[in-house]
Amino acid sequence: MLNQNIGQGEGVYISTYGCQMNVNDTERMLSLLEMVNFVPVDSPEKASLIIINSCSVREKPVHKVHSEAGKYRQMKEKNPRLRIGVGGCVAQQEKAKLLKDVPVLDFVFGTDAIDQLPELVAKTYEGTEKVVSARFENEKPYSVETLVRNPGVSTFVNIAKGCDNFCTFCVVPFTRGRERSRTLKELISDINALTARGVKEVTLLGQNVNSYESECGADFATLLETVARDTSIERIRYTTSHPKDFDQRLVDISAKYRSKICDYIHLPAQSGNTEVLARMNRGYSREEYLAKVKMIRDGIPGVILTTDLIVGFPGETEEQFMDTLSLIKEVRYDNIYAFKYSPRPFTKAAKFEDQVPEDEKQRRLALLLETQREIAFELAKDYDGGTYDVLIEGEATGNNANSGLWQGRTTHNKIVYFLGGRTEMIGQTIPFKILKSFPNVLRGDFADKEAIEAKYPGATAPIVPRHDFVAVQAPEAESKLALN
Ligand code: SF4
Repeated sequence: MLNQNIGQGEGVYISTYGCQMNVNDTERMLSLLEMVNFVPVDSPEKASLIIINSCSVREKPVHKVHSEAGKYRQMKEKNPRLRIGVGGCVAQQEKAKLLKDVPVLDFVFGTDAIDQLPELVAKTYEGTEKVVSARFENEKPYSVETLVRNPGVSTFVNIAKGCDNFCTFCVVPFTRGRERSRTLKELISDINALTARGVKEVTLLGQNVNSYESECGADFATLLETVARDTSIERIRYTTSHPKDFDQRLVDISAKYRSKICDYIHLPAQSGNTEVLARMNRGYSREEYLAKVKMIRDGIPGVILTTDLIVGFPGETEEQFMDTLSLIKEVRYDNIYAFKYSPRPFTKAAKFEDQVPEDEKQRRLALLLETQREIAFELAKDYDGGTYDVLIEGEATGNNANSGLWQGRTTHNKIVYFLGGRTEMIGQTIPFKILKSFPNVLRGDFADKEAIEAKYPGATAPIVPRHDFVAVQAPEAESKLALN
């Protein structure tokens, strides 16, 4: 029987790299460790257990693990109870080798071993042996209960894990295993439990959400419809969808349940050139991608689109890069997440010989981002003076923290900052008039001040912010990284 007091009330600190999947995994790890009496803390100095939840998608991931773990060496010499582990994609990729290369580590656990974490940690305290668990459980059904300590207004719900697509640049099939979906029944029960705890918005998460397939044959469109129709959740988001699996039925269901399914679709293109897309093994051409964009915009007018793009993929010529540039001008995305190609272990593209020089990748990236900046500023003007329903999240965070401003989100995933917030407004959806708009960020005021004053006396009184409004969003821990 597992000792329920492994943590003895001591601190656990987790540093998280990478995508929303990892952010969600960290929350699961903390929930599991709390159950065996660890207390989450906000700095490694306060902890007796430190976990690095690693990511392989970005550059030099193993190096990042080495350098962070190295910082803890002296702490470990002073505190014999301190245990240090690595989870996430680098752990899955490197397995026992990581323990050999980074001697300060006590344990390594892969992406399918998160639920074993309390047992693994217990073993590191019981013996002197280092511990590794990094096997994929590809044959087992994927069944987990969403564990969130303080879900707040909005939370993530994993619907599937792994990926079978093998895009030639992507390490995910090697670090997250084969694609497996949770059952429809389990997901509905999870979402009902979250709404009972006050959650208003869920983001359905998966490496490739729209290839979701439940044991009863339900596809992603059916899942969305069931969540929208049979639960009382107010808003549904999802990420990330693959263009090749985006079909008319998904558009029709999104349009039918538009009051719940948000007007925001992240549709990773990766390139605007058909030959590059073929070398990436993406499963669509430029023309087919553009046809999907048209299908989505015809079916859901006003929906906003964002995308992921890679510049300098091996063999990408100037002309082929220009096709990516012309793609963003043609589609006019609200936002793009653009990256220079960098080789990842195990992937086919890492072995392609015609790698693009670094300075050329940098030039292409700068040009792409500058072009997108102009597009985003032009698109932002459309919001000026408009009225939008905003789901209130709480006091402002990031660059506007401690300013006296509050924040909420529109269906388009734009953050609206405003003055006059109240704790009782958290979780309410309130109409706002937009005073000033920037890409991704809006400054707003209550649209119906009389109604607000009647419900929340004093909320509309003039307030001077503690510092000026910052129109640049704080980086979200690399959270929207190219995965699909
Ligand atoms: S980019 Fe997305 S679809 Fe392609 S292999 Fe990676 S996770 Fe799968």
